[in-house]
Formats: sequence, C-alpha cells, structure tokens
Amino acid sequence: MKAHDGMYIGGRWLPAAGPDTIAVVNPADEQVIAHVPAGTAEDVDAAVRAAREAFPAWAATPPAERAAHLEALRDELTRRADEIAGTVTAELGAPPVLAQRVHVGLPLRVAGSYAELAASYSFEERINNSTVLLEPVGVVGAITPWNYPLHQIVAKVAPALAAGCTIVLKPAEDTPLTAQLFADAVHDAGLPAGVFNLVTGLGPVAGQALAAHEGVDLVSFTGSTAVGRQIGATAGAAIKRVALELGGKSANVILPSADLARAVSHGIANVMSNSGQTCSAWTRMLVHKDQYDEAVALAAAAADRFVPGEQVGPLVNAKQQQRVRAYIETGVAEGARLVAGGPAAPFETGYYVSPTVFADVTPEMTIAQEEIFGPVVCVLRYEDEQDAVEIANGTVYGLAGAVWAGEDAEAAAFARRIDTGQIDINGGRFNHLAPFGGYKQSGVGRELGPHGLAEYLQTKSLQF
Ligand code: NAP
Ligand code: MG
Repeated sequence: MKAHDGMYIGGRWLPAAGPDTIAVVNPADEQVIAHVPAGTAEDVDAAVRAAREAFPAWAATPPAERAAHLEALRDELTRRADEIAGTVTAELGAPPVLAQRVHVGLPLRVAGSYAELAASYSFEERINNSTVLLEPVGVVGAITPWNYPLHQIVAKVAPALAAGCTIVLKPAEDTPLTAQLFADAVHDAGLPAGVFNLVTGLGPVAGQALAAHEGVDLVSFTGSTAVGRQIGATAGAAIKRVALELGGKSANVILPSADLARAVSHGIANVMSNSGQTCSAWTRMLVHKDQYDEAVALAAAAADRFVPGEQVGPLVNAKQQQRVRAYIETGVAEGARLVAGGPAAPFETGYYVSPTVFADVTPEMTIAQEEIFGPVVCVLRYEDEQDAVEIANGTVYGLAGAVWAGEDAEAAAFARRIDTGQIDINGGRFNHLAPFGGYKQSGVGRELGPHGLAEYLQTKSLQF
C-alpha cells in the first residue's frame, strides 16, 4: 500500500528525525503492507513548534472561515472515501461493508457536524454585567487508538479546529496509514500550514513525548485505562487540560417486559460488530432469572450467525488475539459455561477469534469485570430490578449501556439509575451529536457535538 516516509509538519511532508520504521501488518493474512516512520521526541518537538506558530492566526480566523475550511476537509475525505475504507480494511481487518458504513460514514458525518457547529456556535455569552468569551485552549496533543482509526482522529481534530485550536496527532502504531490519508485530505483541503500536524510512532516514545511536551496546552487521549491513567498524571503535574476516553464494560439490561428476542439479537450484533473492538460495546447481557435459559439459547444462536472471515473480521494484531483468547480460557477456568465459540482460533492464519458467548457468568468473575476488547459476550442472571442495577453498576467502568423494556418510559426510568455516560433505550440509534464519554474510570471529558467542542474552549469574563 501507498505510504509516506515522513511526518506531516507545518503543511509539508518532512523527513523523520530518526531512521526507525514501523511495519504495518494486514491482520487478515499477517502480511506486511507498508512501513511508516517511527517518530521520536525530535519529530514531536518540530510538530508542536509548527502548531504553536500556526495558533495565533488560526485562533483569530473568524469561525465562519474555520467552518468553510472544515467543510473543505469533509469534502476531501468524501472524495477519498473508497481509498480510506480500503485502507481501514487492510490495516485493521474491518469487513468492507463495515469499513464503508461505519469507519468512513461516521467520521464524514462528524466532520460535517463540526463545519456546521463552527459556524453556528456562540463563542460569546452574556451573564449579568459580564461578557464571557469562549476562547481556544491552544495547542492540542491528540493520541488515538486503532479501533476506529478515522473516527478517533476526526472526533478530536474537527472540534479542535472548529474551536480555533491547532493540533498534533500521534495515531496508533497499528493503523498509521489511515492517519496519513487524513493528512493528505487536510493538505488538499487547503488548511493553513501548521494547524494540523502528524507524527507517526510508538506510544511510549512519540506518544509520551507529546503528552509531556510543555508546548502542548491540552492532551486528548483515547485508549486503555492503564495508559490514560499515566497521561492524566503527566498532564496533572503540568497543570494541563486533559480529556481521557478510556475503556468500558457496558451492560445490556433486558427487563422482563422487553421483546426478548429483539433485545438479545441487537445485543449480540452490538458486540460482534468490529470484532468486539468497541469501547462502548454491551459486553455484559443482564437477563431476569425466569427468562435466562431462553435468552442464553437465543444468544448462542445469534452469535453462531456471525461467521469469522465474513461478518466478523480478525482482531487488530497477534497480541490482541492472544489477549482475548486468554480471557476466554480464564472464563472457562473460573466456571463460566461456553455456549458459542471458545478459545480455539478459527483459522491458522489471521488474528481471528470465534464469536463467543458465556452463560452462568457471575458478577465477580474476571470476564464480567475486565474489558476484553474482542467478540465475547457474558450473559448474567439477575433476581430483580434492584439486583440488575447493582450488577450493571458493579464495575470500575461507566461508558455506555442499553436498556430494553415494553415501554420506553420504563427503560428510561431504569437508565436513570445507571452510572454511565450513554444508554440506548429500546435500540435507540447512535447520535453523532450527543455527548460521548465516561463516568467513573471510563474517562474524563466528552466528545462529539457541542459538548465535544466545549472541551477545546476556555472562558474569559469581561465585566462591564
Ligand atoms: P493503548 O496502548 O492505550 O493505545 C492507545 C494510544 O496510546 C496509541 O496511540 C498508543 O500508541 C498510545 N500510547 C501507548 N502507550 C503510551 C504512552 N506511554 N504514552 C503516550 N501514548 C501511549 O491501547 P492499545 O495497546 O492499543 O490497546 C490495549 C487495550 O486498550 C485494549 O485491549 C482495550 O481494552 C483498550 N482500548 C480502548 C479503546 C477505546 O476506544 N476506549 C481503544 C483501543 C484500545 P501505540 O499504538 O504505539 O501503542
Ligand atoms: Mg499499545
């Protein structure tokens, strides 16, 4: 595949400071498809300087003009939609339909939404005798994961640019080619030099250097809770703004009045999509004891309809495949009952894991507590509504969830008792304008829509 051998800094592709490279692997066939440079602290420093230099003029650009730039960027991404989808399939392993509809479709909508918000957002408000100015925070250091390579980038870059911030991106080492295509789109859209900069590289090297750089005013990170904790500590020590979008272990609560078959089949599809590599996936299915056996049978049958290599792609790399298979073995060892899938890999080549469903999972088991990040669903039994609330809230996470009931009002009343950032009521659709982010250890801050824009703004009050 096509790859740049440099970093996109200050509006140009510059040679990397060091000689090291990262091999990009197709997880479906384990073949190396490209190499990209592995950035160092020196590359990060050059990128942050370029972003700082570009900041004053970009911050002073009228919001309507920033909106026009974002619209041009959205159009360039649209023009490249097929190429981006093919790249996401090649470096992440996403099935082509998923790549087109979700991996490309969603970020196009998000980019468009920030073009509109930049134009319509009120960057000034009146409170009594004060005029409050909402000003851009400054230079943003963005660190993104591989699970939705383009979406994770757009969900940070678009609101940052809309707010008037400039940005340096360190994308995941597993999916740098999508990030390079994004930089190409920024360039061809004619955005001013330095407002967006890209440094490919390894987390502990380039990512760490970016998070710790004193020229960065706000760090926005999406990824594991372990790395997020470290980045939060680094940012805290420097009194720097930080947004953390971390893991999840979300509950799919099926109340007795719900359409059981519909709730179960949606729940399984939600987890199997993207091979379970979605932080907001509903990986714990909670079913009333009287409906438990029927739900387990429905869940097993639904999972079996997701065929590896067809509806379900591989995991991103060998390490994630091993990690997920080890969790499945732990589930068996702790006494959960496999009703679909299992630890054996379905193919010799490619990092595939069989769609797996566990029954007889109890809330304290490892597989019910820890984020697995693979196509694995745990079905738990609850006694009554209070028990369901306690199980749903009984992890360190609080990112997403679902509630199903005969009536929306019953499901919504239950949802108020759940400590989590977003809940889908009776299969409610994903809304790319609604705030997305976590309670508890699922994170700090919100992405998407006007709430996502506000993360990149700080207030200045003028008293009259
Ligand atoms: P990760 O290590 O947290 O990676 C996320 C991003 O942070 C990547 O760009 C990574 O670079 C970078 N990074 C790693 N160590 C860093 C450091 N010390 N300082 C600064 N940046 C650093 O996540 P992962 O290893 O890809 O996946 C591990 C687990 O994280 C998954 O199993 C899953 O549980 C969770 N995860 C959650 C999400 C989510 O959306 N919430 C997304 C992906 C993964 P490299 O690419 O070089 O590692
Ligand atoms: Mg990592």
